[in-house]
Amino acid sequence: MKRSKQVSILLTAACMTATCLSGCGKSAEKPTVSVSEESSALSGNDVSSLPAALSENAVSENASVSENRSVPSDPAPAAPAPTADPTPTPVPDVVTSRPVSFDPNWQYGQNSKINSGTAVFYTAAPSVSKGKTVCVNAGHGTSGGESVRTLCHPDGSAKVTGGSTAAGSTTAMAVASGTTLLDGTEERTATLSLALKVKDRLLAEGYNVLMIRESDDVQLDNIARTLLANNYADIHISLHYDSTESDKGAFYMSPPKVDSYLSMEPVASTYQADDSLGKQIISGLSSAGIRIWENGSLEQDLTQTSYSTIATIDLEVGDRASDHSDAPQAAIAEGITAGCNAYFGLPATAQPKTDTSAVPSSNPSADAAAFDPAVSPDVTPEPTKGLEGVG
Ligand SMILES: [Zn+2]
Repeated sequence: MKRSKQVSILLTAACMTATCLSGCGKSAEKPTVSVSEESSALSGNDVSSLPAALSENAVSENASVSENRSVPSDPAPAAPAPTADPTPTPVPDVVTSRPVSFDPNWQYGQNSKINSGTAVFYTAAPSVSKGKTVCVNAGHGTSGGESVRTLCHPDGSAKVTGGSTAAGSTTAMAVASGTTLLDGTEERTATLSLALKVKDRLLAEGYNVLMIRESDDVQLDNIARTLLANNYADIHISLHYDSTESDKGAFYMSPPKVDSYLSMEPVASTYQADDSLGKQIISGLSSAGIRIWENGSLEQDLTQTSYSTIATIDLEVGDRASDHSDAPQAAIAEGITAGCNAYFGLPATAQPKTDTSAVPSSNPSADAAAFDPAVSPDVTPEPTKGLEGVG
């Protein structure tokens, strides 16, 4: 017994030596595992699924063993080896995020003038993932954006409608500063608050979210924002409060039905998807109790629309007189989410019901009236002169 204990101690010492000084420990008494066995054990494991530090360790250990075939193997390794556990590393069921940057080599990339900022890509938790990405673009919020001009259209042609930039112009503000709501809140502040709610709601629903802006300022002009969406998202929704003062309701900016505009790429390939997305979002907002202006759309030639290769809308969720507190913004987020589900034809994910009872609505017939102006004759059309967009 005593001799056996001594051997055991010697074995342990040899083990530690072999572990600490790879390739140096030698003991004829220890069983030797062939290199091929160790190699197959390693390759049988999914090294790519291991944390980088572990997999690198496994590979380097394997390499050092291959170089010295006389190395004895320890039947009971002192340190936990990555090959010991055949259970795959589970993917954490959480939202993850990463920064994404503008690439000037993208299509139309050379037309952007402000693009040093960074957007954030949020990946939905795997258990609820719908495999679709929504770009949520909080309108405005680019310091200095109003003093830089960019081409309205990729091909340099002139705008076909007015807006914050007149029809006939070939250049527009890279990013307008936005309006100021009647309570003194800057539009960019209200759109950011809303965008953060929309992000949380969409992630809970299982959508990945590309957030263009998460603070007061991001150095990304409207072209850069659109190209980020083109390259990372399936649909692009920018959020705005319009510059009128009547609390007239929500609507989206529809591609102008002008032949020259609809035949210009990439608009020619996307304008029908834009309108499909816009109608579904407006319908979702209506069902969430949000008042809708007229039939829910206004034709506007915007930079966002003109450069988009995916379905895109500028969504005016209200105007300078609208309540932009938490309750109505939560209802808007609910409506946008419902609209996304309808657009993609995906089922709703079970969520705690949002209380929209606090949402003021002076137009209870809006639900039924969406896209049917005849049903809501009491709504007076607003002049388009005061409308502001992003282009
Ligand atoms: Zn705006």
